[in-house]
Amino acid sequence: MKIKNVPKEFTEAKPVMEQLETAGFEAYFVGGSVRDLLLNKAIHDVDIATSAYPEEVKAIFPRTVDVGIEHGTVLVLHEEDQYEITTFRTESTYQDYRRPDEVTFVRSLEEDLKRRDFTINALAMSQDGVIVDLFSGMDDLDRKLIRAVGEASERFNEDALRMMRAVRFASQLGFSIEDETLNAIHLNKALLSKISIERVQIEWIKLLLGHDRKLGLVSFIDTGCYEYCPGFADKKEKLQALCDTSSTPFVDEAQAWALTLCFLEINPNDAKRFLKKWKLSNNLMKRITLILSALNWRQENEWTNEWLFNVGKENASLIEQSMVYFDRPFDVLETEKRYDQLVIKTKQDLAVDGQLLIQATGKSAGPWLGEMLNNLQLKVLDGELSNDQAELLSYAKK
Ligand code: ATP
Ligand code: MG
Repeated sequence: MKIKNVPKEFTEAKPVMEQLETAGFEAYFVGGSVRDLLLNKAIHDVDIATSAYPEEVKAIFPRTVDVGIEHGTVLVLHEEDQYEITTFRTESTYQDYRRPDEVTFVRSLEEDLKRRDFTINALAMSQDGVIVDLFSGMDDLDRKLIRAVGEASERFNEDALRMMRAVRFASQLGFSIEDETLNAIHLNKALLSKISIERVQIEWIKLLLGHDRKLGLVSFIDTGCYEYCPGFADKKEKLQALCDTSSTPFVDEAQAWALTLCFLEINPNDAKRFLKKWKLSNNLMKRITLILSALNWRQENEWTNEWLFNVGKENASLIEQSMVYFDRPFDVLETEKRYDQLVIKTKQDLAVDGQLLIQATGKSAGPWLGEMLNNLQLKVLDGELSNDQAELLSYAKK
């Protein structure tokens, strides 16, 4: 098959491909970009694979950066653009169910495509649009199937992360996992415990943010992958409840996590301990915990100015919109309007600060100061006091 109108993300790379070919090497677009092109999806970054060895690639192009030379990847800078060019390679002897012990550079495209995870990810395209499909990846795209290249169980034994990749692609693409591949996941799920949590986490969040979240979650639960994810093992029913919510896609990582914790019935006080096991950044854990508290609260109450002030506008609309997952009525525009009408949006907007309060009262600093500032903030938010320096100071003195 030949693609007639190759999109510009690929044609822009043509000069780079041609230089490799002129030097006597093969060069192909590979992986996700070819898959997404055939699915008419937006193309992110195009990956190029070549028969040239890394040193040969570097000899051809004047501007290169070694980004992963031990894996065969060289970054080639061409005009305004940059391309990751990776030498065809095979991976051998996986002893720890993750990452190969050794990668071997080879001259054969076929060998390179063989080591890829799924048939839909093992397609290649030449610079003039001819598709190389050695494992019936095009049929699987038509049938919307995720199928391991070769013997599924063997492939998951080589690299257990592929099992998480299967369920995340199901969610992102709206594909089913082919039976044999699905059985192999079920059989090998325990190997997931060998994989670093950082890598599992990336796939898990991609699953949650996918357009067909339910499809991914169903496989994640039914195959038992969830049993090998931190904090999920004894929570099958609760994960199922998350799976059964509205199919509206989640907006971002923080919302996705907060909703997960909410359905797992994790208390905001325990959220950090839970999320630490997933090795999330402190900032993200903080935001998730805030959203989780507000989600719990908003399910039972209408917004107050104080809550709006505390969560901020972006989180407030996110939380409001999240009511859809609890089958509760919600109004995002009205929530944003109410936020916009707050007299103060940050602590700095208050017409007095600690220094002024100390001067005005003649008292020395102490715990009373924070309490007073909070109190004034609340009264201003609720309209009991106006945000006026004189008025606030006179109230404080009393
Ligand atoms: P995305 O759109 O998320 O980037 P992708 O298919 O491009 O999806 P990448 O993780 O960027 O996924 O990997 C690029 C390609 O490398 C894949 O399409 C696949 O061919 C191969 N690949 C990546 N990870 C693995 C793995 N663990 N095992 C085998 N092949 C892999
Ligand atoms: Mg990619």
